[in-house]
Amino acid sequence: MAESVELPGRLAILPFRNKVLLPGAFIRIRCTSQSSVKLVEQELWQREEKGLIGILPVQDAAETTSMDSMLSQGVGSESGERSSNVQVSTSDAHKVDGKNPSEVIHWHNRGVAARALHLSRGVEKPSGRVTYIVVLEGLCRFNIEELNTRGPYCTAKISPLEMTKSEMEQVEQDPDFVTLSRQFKAIAMELISILEQKQKTGGRIKVLLETLPFHKLADIFVASFEISFEEQLCMLDSVDPKVRLSKATELVDRHLQSIRVAEKITQKVEGQLSKSQKEYLLRQQMRAIKEELGDNDDDEDDLASLERKMQTAGMPSNIWKHAQRELRRLKKMQPQQPGYNSSRVYLDLLADLPWQKASEEQELDLKAAKDHLDCDHYGLVKIKQRIIEYLAVRKLKPDARGPVLCFVGPPGVGKTSLASSIAAALGRKFIRISLGGVKDEADIRGHRRTYIGSMPGSLIDGLKRVGVCNPVMLLDEIDKTGSDVRGDPASALLEVLDPEQNKSFNDHYLNVPFDLSKVIFVATANRMQPIPPPLLDRMEVIELPGYTAEEKLRIAMQHLIPRVLDQHGLSSAFLQIPEDMVKLVIQRYTREAGVRNLERNLAALARAAAVRVAEREQAVSVSKDVHKITSPLLDNRLAEGAEMEMEVIPMGVNNHEISNAFRIASPLVVDEAMLEKILGPPRFDDQEAADRVATPGVSVGLVWTAFGGEVQFVEATSVVGNGELHLTGQLGDVIKESAQIALTWVRARVEDLKLAAAEETDLLQAKDIHIHFPAGAVPKDGPSAGVTLVTALVSLFSQKNVRADTAMTGEMTLRGLVLPVGGVKDKVLAAHRYGIKRVILPERNLKDLVEVPADVLSSLEILVAKRMEDVLEHAFDGGCPWRQHQHSKL
Ligand code: ADP
Repeated sequence: MAESVELPGRLAILPFRNKVLLPGAFIRIRCTSQSSVKLVEQELWQREEKGLIGILPVQDAAETTSMDSMLSQGVGSESGERSSNVQVSTSDAHKVDGKNPSEVIHWHNRGVAARALHLSRGVEKPSGRVTYIVVLEGLCRFNIEELNTRGPYCTAKISPLEMTKSEMEQVEQDPDFVTLSRQFKAIAMELISILEQKQKTGGRIKVLLETLPFHKLADIFVASFEISFEEQLCMLDSVDPKVRLSKATELVDRHLQSIRVAEKITQKVEGQLSKSQKEYLLRQQMRAIKEELGDNDDDEDDLASLERKMQTAGMPSNIWKHAQRELRRLKKMQPQQPGYNSSRVYLDLLADLPWQKASEEQELDLKAAKDHLDCDHYGLVKIKQRIIEYLAVRKLKPDARGPVLCFVGPPGVGKTSLASSIAAALGRKFIRISLGGVKDEADIRGHRRTYIGSMPGSLIDGLKRVGVCNPVMLLDEIDKTGSDVRGDPASALLEVLDPEQNKSFNDHYLNVPFDLSKVIFVATANRMQPIPPPLLDRMEVIELPGYTAEEKLRIAMQHLIPRVLDQHGLSSAFLQIPEDMVKLVIQRYTREAGVRNLERNLAALARAAAVRVAEREQAVSVSKDVHKITSPLLDNRLAEGAEMEMEVIPMGVNNHEISNAFRIASPLVVDEAMLEKILGPPRFDDQEAADRVATPGVSVGLVWTAFGGEVQFVEATSVVGNGELHLTGQLGDVIKESAQIALTWVRARVEDLKLAAAEETDLLQAKDIHIHFPAGAVPKDGPSAGVTLVTALVSLFSQKNVRADTAMTGEMTLRGLVLPVGGVKDKVLAAHRYGIKRVILPERNLKDLVEVPADVLSSLEILVAKRMEDVLEHAFDGGCPWRQHQHSKL
């Protein structure tokens, strides 16, 4: 390090673009531009003694805008001297390091004299261009007095800026300088010690710290940091040693901070890394230890508990062997291995299934069972009797292979609740398996385990859920299973219901036989017809035809209302639904065979009441508060001998709250207005049939649907056409054929029935007939609309109205015989519900009327028909239209 340098008056200037060489710093540069090569050649290379050159920072025009201001304000004010930039346009022949000559560059007015420590010359091939690599050492600052940019390179008249020795000695006496030096030293030492720890290179710098004056050290320290060009310039401009020291202290401190932050982050990352590494290591060790102990890992614990569960499951010996084999296989697998999980789930199922576990069979008390059934269900006398018989047989012979009971009837007639009552009477658990819409055999029998996502069938799954092997299992909606390409669920059910086969029911997923013989199966269906005959053969069908209005009323009053109130947290103290109102709900809002909609409507009333009661309770609590608050008041007043009544009501309670509080004492009684408000306007009325049969061509039929009996209107009309029959209303093949038969029958009797003028023999001449069955969206089929169709056609051709109070049912042959039909009880009940007064039935159906409750029968006129003519006789006012015709002629 040069102590003091004799500077010449003029120096060759090497511009440094956006870079500053500070005194005491070393730099290695490569000179390639023409001017710099020339400079090095002439000033350094060709000289005998070591030459000096001046290094001057220059700056692009784009970067000077901010710079200018900084230089003039920042440095100038700090150092107490003003520094300015020399702006030179290089367009006049001079170019800085080969850059665009048209660029405006700014020369700084201070530079650093530098000495070349090392020089090497190179010749580029193939261009033959000469380049130099120079290692320079910054020596001391100088000021530019005059810059000459003409010539092969720049030269400048300069004046030295560094202080003389005596000046420096004077400054060193300055207490400010001493303080600054101390500060700088402290911070520099700190930095060195950190560097020492990190890079072990602090030793050399420490020596410098001891030997060099601080103002020089400041430059050296700062030169080794990466700082911005502006800061470098600022440092260059800090000619005053005090300014320089304070600036350097600031920069060293900043550098120190950034090292510390970086260190903190590194430590954190390293800490995390080592934590996970440590965990990994510990886990490995734990695994090794467990292996040594023959006690593998968590999965092993898990498998051990599974094995214990399997041992207590009470599997038959052959299945236990199978399960053990599977468990051994599982133990050899890694949990990540494919198949591990499915095997695990499978074994879980084996362990969970109730192979032996059963609800304890109680001594069956028939009287209690009867009471239970009576308590839960109104009416259904015969059905309850049949159930008691069934239970009695089971009591005498518990393992009797009795038939499977199948309750058939419209929705909401109590099929499910009867089945659950059987379970309760037997003291067994109850499980319901819904078969509605099951089309895939695998839903019942399970998927083989080779399939991805395979599962056991609904029966095995149900048994697992219920947890005992002897529940009452309800196979709900057994008529709704259908078969398609995915197999026939009914055939799987056959196996389930066959007492000979269900001892070893084979679920595909389970793949080992399961004994279903202890399960009591009960089935439900809406209709008998879709149940496959072999399945039907294994069941004893008990029909629940639907309730009369009177029965519904009783059910509502005795069972539904108390249950609904209970479900809504109410009691008759809060809500009362009088019988008359229940009757109105039955007549106007529900026209169903069962009581489900009735229950729903009653629940709607209860909900509305619940809201009111809840609101009131709030109000009551307010009034209670008032009491609470007023009581101490009252006490005080009483003590003072005041009147008690005067104090009770105030405290901001308004009249509304008070009246609410009082009203709670009386229950809410449902009235007609409330019915309409909650349930909406009535949905049905007795006038409907009369309104719809007001024109010729409309007749009233009785049909049977999955929802029980229904009244079905048939509409016929004729339009100009060419003798075609159009049928609409989603009709099935059978009903379409019935329409053909009806039309043919009517056409064949056009003369007998006097339906057309004598000369007109073809009813269809230039006419099309259109028959429609509303409601158009509901699919319909069956032969029982035969007589209704004929009646509609006769009414159309004779232009006579059919009686609105008369409904009919019956199949008709082509020759006009009326054949019996099914579901008579349901149909008669439906007619009764609709307010129909007369019902025309096939003669051979008379025997079915014994099932119809007497009160319904007494309110209806039953008319018997053997032939179609009998139907027509009853259907029209004053008898058959043709006879009226005859009478009028007579
Ligand atoms: P289903 O299974 O026939 O569709 P549910 O057994 O679910 O009908 O019965 C619907 C509701 O009607 C149940 O709350 C049931 O308790 C009630 N219910 C049906 N019939 C009666 C009855 N005869 N006595 C009392 N409640 C009945």
